[in-house]
Amino acid sequence: MSLSRRQFLVLSGAAIPGQLLAAQTAAGPPAGPAPKPIAPARRALDPARPWDQQIRRIGQINFNERDPVELDVAAWADYWASLHVDAVLVSVTGILAFYPTQVPFHRRSRFLGNRDLFGECAAAAKKRGLRVIARLSPDLQWDDALTAHPEWFMRDAAGGFQAHNEEPHLYHTCTFSTYFTEHVPALMREIQAHYDVDGLFTNGWPPLGSFPNCHCDVCRQLPPSDTVAYWEKFTERSVELWQLYDAIAKEKKPDNLFFANLGGGLRATPNLHRLAQVCQWFNCDNQGRGGEATPIWGAALQGRVASAVMRGRTITNVTGAYSTASGVRWRNVAKSQAEAEIWMDQTVASGMTIWYHWVGAQTGLGEDRRWQEIGHRYMDWHASHDAHFTPRRSLATLGVVIGQRTHLFHTPPGEGKMDEFMDGLYSALLEGRFLFDFVHEDDLGPETVGRYAALLLPNIAWLSDRQCGQLRDYVAAGGSLLATFETAMFDETGRRRANSGLADLFGIESVGPVEAPNGNGFYARIERPHEILRGFDNTNWIPGGAYRLPVKAAGAPVLTVVPAYTAYPPELSYAPVAKTDEPAVIVREHGDARLLYFSGDLERTAWRSGHTDLSRLLTNSVTWLLRGRQPVTVEGEGAVECFAWETGPGFAVHVLNYTNPNLHRGWLRQFYPIGPQRVRLELPAGRQVAKVELLRAERAVPFRQTGATVEFAIPQISDFEVAALHV
Ligand SMILES: [Zn+2]
Repeated sequence: MSLSRRQFLVLSGAAIPGQLLAAQTAAGPPAGPAPKPIAPARRALDPARPWDQQIRRIGQINFNERDPVELDVAAWADYWASLHVDAVLVSVTGILAFYPTQVPFHRRSRFLGNRDLFGECAAAAKKRGLRVIARLSPDLQWDDALTAHPEWFMRDAAGGFQAHNEEPHLYHTCTFSTYFTEHVPALMREIQAHYDVDGLFTNGWPPLGSFPNCHCDVCRQLPPSDTVAYWEKFTERSVELWQLYDAIAKEKKPDNLFFANLGGGLRATPNLHRLAQVCQWFNCDNQGRGGEATPIWGAALQGRVASAVMRGRTITNVTGAYSTASGVRWRNVAKSQAEAEIWMDQTVASGMTIWYHWVGAQTGLGEDRRWQEIGHRYMDWHASHDAHFTPRRSLATLGVVIGQRTHLFHTPPGEGKMDEFMDGLYSALLEGRFLFDFVHEDDLGPETVGRYAALLLPNIAWLSDRQCGQLRDYVAAGGSLLATFETAMFDETGRRRANSGLADLFGIESVGPVEAPNGNGFYARIERPHEILRGFDNTNWIPGGAYRLPVKAAGAPVLTVVPAYTAYPPELSYAPVAKTDEPAVIVREHGDARLLYFSGDLERTAWRSGHTDLSRLLTNSVTWLLRGRQPVTVEGEGAVECFAWETGPGFAVHVLNYTNPNLHRGWLRQFYPIGPQRVRLELPAGRQVAKVELLRAERAVPFRQTGATVEFAIPQISDFEVAALHV
């Protein structure tokens, strides 16, 4: 089914650019002269800034072994050029070589023959003005290297090699071995010696999602892989290899660079704050959702994680145009158009760069062509508004602390993963339409947290004395704080404290172990009116949570705990004690600072139960912390996620429309447009808006500026809207 070059040229003449590759050979080549392929103008880069900090779009067809047979190199390069990408990924690999390698154990694709697919693609990309990133995959190696280099491979506890779960002749390589310091550098240098490349990229390293569990000679000298001590060694190894590979990249040209996959959202493996100190380009391998019940906002959350550590440097996120899912996947069939688009929308909104990805030329240019038009249409739109996709600074004044240690190592009472705490809080923040950033736990100094009016600590259980001290300083400087459940009950190594490290701030004392639900969760009894109880009319009781850490505190509580009791049989479902003195929430004010502590697992239980009282309690609480003030508000109906950035031309407010029956499960089938959204911004003093332009609707809208306040309406939003304010 592959298209010959001549057929391609002939067919492309009659097609719009997005359908360039959609033509099929079945029709046969029509007669007539071959028209020129469309060559879009390349965007001029600022020579004073590194090129890798100016990229806007990336393209990749991930090669498979057959691609030397299937891939029409010119068609491949024309497609990506027509999408206005700045760079393409071209596979070198390490698992299979796509060029005539001389490095031992770098197995050539058995379809390579006399071809040099890497070289042909690199040259074709260069001819079209595209940068070339050489993609390596150092995570797996074939069994024929086991005898010669047993030291390269991961071992299990019994000393056996660790085979891949899909291809039994492939084995996992060990990050701590010479495979990474000798073999991988040999591949990198071979490529750089023969080809004009602009950067080096590793897939599959650092590992995503979980730590390697290796018992090789080197790893047996390391702490156990489920400990913070191992995490620190693992992070240092990641930093060391990153620096080694970046130095190798720069042997070719001083403005070349190395970068790798760092996705995994909150469960990224290396310490991201540490790695960001050596990383100029953070790629998120967060390609899409599917299968299990995952919320729609996965790419936006990933963008927040990466932005917390990269501070304006390049972040890319891969959108898999193929069928992403957990468990079974279809690598060579497209996902729904709406799902691919909402992922790219989130990539853009959260300040990342789009990286559009397909696997294999057989389907990439032949069998399933649906993804091509989706990518083309999106990138065409995106490229026409480049100037506004230059996020310089988030306008959010609310920070959510992300605790990598807690997420990686803490098992909260009540089983499950820490992610549920963030899912519940994230969901409530979207319901409340709050503008927020993530803040890394190792970045709590005043230079970072000073810009936030409030910080939220969603059960950040592991915090060091130093981190607690930084939060105390933040509050002393007038910052407001919300913490839940076991926040700071453990130090940075997981040692349990008698009292929370923030107990003095909240005026609490721990009075016993965590209590579990008993059919019923515990209840919160309303003792006196407060702004955080807005909307709870006509009831004295609301749900408190499932699990709680019993505490005592001085003063009259706003909410008291009614402990959990039997839910079934209903004959026994009544409170043995209808009222206690135990607070369910601590509400305090210190000068300008407002403080809230919930002793229950409020946000996780909101997520698990879907209870509207719990999410209301959370949104009311955040509103109270912020004194109702936000620099940007977007009001209207529908489930949305908002970002607001200071940009090159001025400001940009991004509104993602999640109003969809597939918000929590299944890919989006279509978009369900929402009606008018009223936007209000408080600009820094002295900024006069000249024009408000809706980039998706492609039109300007009327606005009113009164002093520093700008107001306008977005009449309708399908999937996404970007209101660009020119100042
Ligand atoms: Zn090892």
